[in-house]
Amino acid sequence: MKAVTVIPGQKYSAHIKEVPLPEIGDSELLIKSVYCGICNTDREINEGLYGTAPKDSDYLIMGHESLGIVDKLGKDVTGISKGQYVVRSVRRSCGSCPNCLARANDMCTTGGFIESGIKELHGCMAEYFSDTPEYLITIPQELAHVGVLLEPLSVVEKTYRQAKEIQKRIVWTPKKAMIIGAGPIGLLQAMLLTEQNMEVYVVARSKSGNLKSKLVNEIGAQYVSTSCMTLDDLVSKVGKFDFVLEASGDSSMVFESMPYVANNGILCMTSITGGNKQYTIQSDKRNLEFVLGNKIMFGTVNANLLDYENGVKSMARFMKRWPDVLPSMFTRRYSLEGYEKALKTSSDDIKTVIDFN
Ligand SMILES: [Zn+2]
Ligand SMILES: [Zn+2]
Repeated sequence: MKAVTVIPGQKYSAHIKEVPLPEIGDSELLIKSVYCGICNTDREINEGLYGTAPKDSDYLIMGHESLGIVDKLGKDVTGISKGQYVVRSVRRSCGSCPNCLARANDMCTTGGFIESGIKELHGCMAEYFSDTPEYLITIPQELAHVGVLLEPLSVVEKTYRQAKEIQKRIVWTPKKAMIIGAGPIGLLQAMLLTEQNMEVYVVARSKSGNLKSKLVNEIGAQYVSTSCMTLDDLVSKVGKFDFVLEASGDSSMVFESMPYVANNGILCMTSITGGNKQYTIQSDKRNLEFVLGNKIMFGTVNANLLDYENGVKSMARFMKRWPDVLPSMFTRRYSLEGYEKALKTSSDDIKTVIDFN
């Protein structure tokens, strides 16, 4: 079968390779790929900044945002049938830390976990992939066309779940949220928070009038372009934010947004930044504001299976409430052969997918 593979650590090594069809054991399934989503993690892997090949391989099959259809079942597989749509969860247990042993692989402490298409496990940017049922989430047929968004949605679900957990320290009634970045993570988080009746502001660089601003408005949130308004101006107009999410991919924005977190508020960091950017902050001021305001700042990555399951439910609600928004997020589609174009960034892109049909 054909797969897009990289030699981890080697710059721009992505290429199509003929690789063996996965052989499935009695408790495994063979899954035919339908879509594979691409995000900046894939781009950083192709830039050699990230990624590790499986122990017995000198290459890594890319792709962690999957959607496939069950093609073949091992004889011991139950509870899932041929023709069902599935998404594969990304991270697998390290087998030894207390969190992985409690099935919270996303909170692994040893770093010995493996991740589909990222770290020591072949991914889904291939015509087929295999897995065991415990790592697969079934997607109802009516959500199959948007199901590949489940992986980014699971990250958003985890972020909000963690924020709620952390905020059990107080009586938390968040009213205002600021989301930095209008990519898939930013938009999906905006949808989840709008549903909670929060007043949501999505901040991005581009001037409004583009697809991102249109989708933000469609869900009832406000789009703020930093080309037209500074964060200072925004806050003097609407006040500080109980919930801030940084999802722009620019690490300096984490520190830029610190002054705008309300007392008792929470700042969530989700950008994976593989570079070496340095940034100077007024550390006394920022520290004092966080101390005196009982503010929290936390990082979050990946997701628990619970977040994938919650994501499927959210997806169904989103489709009902805003039928056009999720489908409109697919801005670029390429065949497997178009992987080179798919791995290039484009400023108004929201979600690029490899379409296997
Ligand atoms: Zn991703
Ligand atoms: Zn672990």
